[in-house]
Amino acid sequence: MKKHDCLIGGKWLRQGDYHENINPSDVDDIIGVYSHGDALSVDLAVEAAKSARTEWISFTPQARHDLLEAVGKTIAGRAEQIGRLLSREEGKTLAEGIGETMRAAQIFKFFAGECLRQAGDIQPSVRPDIDIEITREPVGIIGLITPWNFPIAIPAWKIAPALAHGNCVILKPAELTPGCAHVTAQILHECGCPPGVFNLVMGRGSTVGQAIVAHPGIDAVSFTGSAATGRHIAGVCGRMMKKVQLEMGGKNPMVILDDADLSIAVPACINGTFFSTGQRCTASSRLIVEEGIHDAFVEEMVAEMGRLKVGDPLDSSTHVGPVVDARQLQSNLDYVGLAAKEASEVIGGERLDGAREGFFQAPALFLGTNNEMRINREEIFGPCGSIIRVGDFDEALSVANDTEYGLTAGICTQSLKRARNFKRRAEAGMVMVNLPTAGVDYHVAFGGRKASSYGPREQGRYAAEFYSVVKTSYSFAG
Ligand code: NAP
Ligand code: MG
Repeated sequence: MKKHDCLIGGKWLRQGDYHENINPSDVDDIIGVYSHGDALSVDLAVEAAKSARTEWISFTPQARHDLLEAVGKTIAGRAEQIGRLLSREEGKTLAEGIGETMRAAQIFKFFAGECLRQAGDIQPSVRPDIDIEITREPVGIIGLITPWNFPIAIPAWKIAPALAHGNCVILKPAELTPGCAHVTAQILHECGCPPGVFNLVMGRGSTVGQAIVAHPGIDAVSFTGSAATGRHIAGVCGRMMKKVQLEMGGKNPMVILDDADLSIAVPACINGTFFSTGQRCTASSRLIVEEGIHDAFVEEMVAEMGRLKVGDPLDSSTHVGPVVDARQLQSNLDYVGLAAKEASEVIGGERLDGAREGFFQAPALFLGTNNEMRINREEIFGPCGSIIRVGDFDEALSVANDTEYGLTAGICTQSLKRARNFKRRAEAGMVMVNLPTAGVDYHVAFGGRKASSYGPREQGRYAAEFYSVVKTSYSFAG
């Protein structure tokens, strides 16, 4: 069994016991064992990062660019192999796994460019003969805590801007999917990232994650995961006055108006609700359908769902892979059980057998639901969607906004007027018109409102807000 260690101060170090990384489509397939650090490993990583800081800050923008560019190129060159590992450890289809890997590569390349675009401002003072310079500086040492559902893209969209803006990093990937983070660490190391600038500490959230959040030597924390964990992290960081960025869950609405083109709306809803096994923070979970199109839409959705093939993600004919693990599957099945009580009809949602023992589940659609039901208030994070029938656009908009979350919101309509109205009034960080709620570009701001996000946006040039601090310098010419 291949053993994988943590990367601390440029050295591969075994920290604690080795834990198995299991393929959710075949529980007998053990991908490898990964060493689990603890609070002492985080101390070591912080010390390594502190020693690396001065050298790293003195790297020229060109040198930083070259490193990130090389990492992006290497990831792209190995996309097939890394995508396969991703599909094996997380369960999304091979096409999705390779797609996510390519996205990680593009993110590194984008932030390679950002190294060369670190402009500041110069302004005249309101007082005579004084100049003011406004510049951005690194924050310091940044702790990154990531979830299992995008095991390479999310680490990439935190590591790349952190390094581009001159910070040192300690990454704790999700316990369920350490493989892609480990490969990313290997690539950073091979491409010449100086020792201690990037550190990988694998292990549990309750030990390593907690230690990162509470460590006085870590200046900022960027977290993606559930709202419950995010709230806890915000509390600790708030008390310590640490900079914090949280990306959390969603209960994303997709509105289908009477004038929608079903040949656009149905594929968008199939993709948004069921692809990646519904395990996306941007998944469509509330399909809010105007009454005139309701029956035709539901009929086509059910027909399309019947054509989705659930199975081994490495088989090219598979549309939907397994649920990530036994616990998530049980939670999904519990929600299907709840839907059987709350909704007027449940289509699909049962556990399926695969070729080997795994965590397969049929896509589920809950018909005849309303927005007050628990199935429409709580994030399920599985291949499940609800149909909520509404009378008109205004009701659709108010149902869409009636949620504690606010990550993405979609609408399918051919009316420019109503699409425009929705774009302006949806209480979400991202709005999609005639597109799935999931599936975003890598070069623009990503994030939500309400309980979905806290702190500055991620990605694109907006990432500078979190990964750098502003300094205002005054000088008097004399
Ligand atoms: P999670 O349980 O909150 O875990 C996320 C990360 O936090 C993991 O690395 C976890 O470690 C760690 N963690 C757990 N408890 C911690 C603690 N007390 N202190 C510090 N770190 C701790 O979330 P998940 O189940 O992995 O991911 C699914 C959730 O992520 C969903 O709610 C989904 O919507 C959200 N998500 C949001 C976005 C977004 O950008 N908005 C993107 C993707 C996913 P372990 O893995 O070791 O438990
Ligand atoms: Mg796994």
